Amino acid sequence: MLNLILFGPPGCGKGTQSARIANRYKLVHLSTGELFREEFRKGTQLGKDVIHFMKNGLLIPDPVVLKKLYRVASQYAHVPGLVFDGFPRTLNQAVVLDKMLDKKGIPISIVFCMVVDEEELINRMLNRGEDSGRLDDNEEIIHKRMDVYRNHTRLLKDYYGNQQKISYISGMAPVKVVSERIAQVVEYFLKTKEILTRAGLTHG
Ligand code: AMP
Repeated sequence: MLNLILFGPPGCGKGTQSARIANRYKLVHLSTGELFREEFRKGTQLGKDVIHFMKNGLLIPDPVVLKKLYRVASQYAHVPGLVFDGFPRTLNQAVVLDKMLDKKGIPISIVFCMVVDEEELINRMLNRGEDSGRLDDNEEIIHKRMDVYRNHTRLLKDYYGNQQKISYISGMAPVKVVSERIAQVVEYFLKTKEILTRAGLTHG
């Protein structure tokens, strides 16, 4: 089983790259943001409960996120692996995920940390907002989401760094090039069980 986490600030390309890597290795792509957007589109109570947080760029409370994750992940007990996109976002979520996977004996294999310049992140999200219609891809909310990332999610780098599971990937290249960088790390891991800690980065 190959369990991957795609991690990084909003706009870094997590969603795009998660989908591509899941497709390439026949893994299930699990995006918590997408799961909640779908709840909202379907008009469920859960969707109504969480939209306020999403529209305002705030984190949905951990108990709500974890309940949803448990429910969805249990449907995928027999797949070759999962790609977590946008989860975990808090230390508590990371600890709970580890416990859940350890119990099943299928720990996280690699945590990809995508590195993209801040100016590029903001431009990407503003451009995406024009087509996607995502309510949180507007300038004010983008800045709030960046703050949430800096204050909460970024701390997970230490958590996974201590586990020696992080691979830093430069996301400042065309989509296909970034996918190849990720695949290179996956291939190396499959062969050696070791993690290449940097791909495509010239500094930082
Ligand atoms: P994303 O599609 O990953 O950019 O997520 C969009 C929004 O969904 C975030 O800004 C949060 O409001 C919410 N969200 C998604 N995943 C999580 C999570 N793991 N924990 C808390 N909130 C989340």
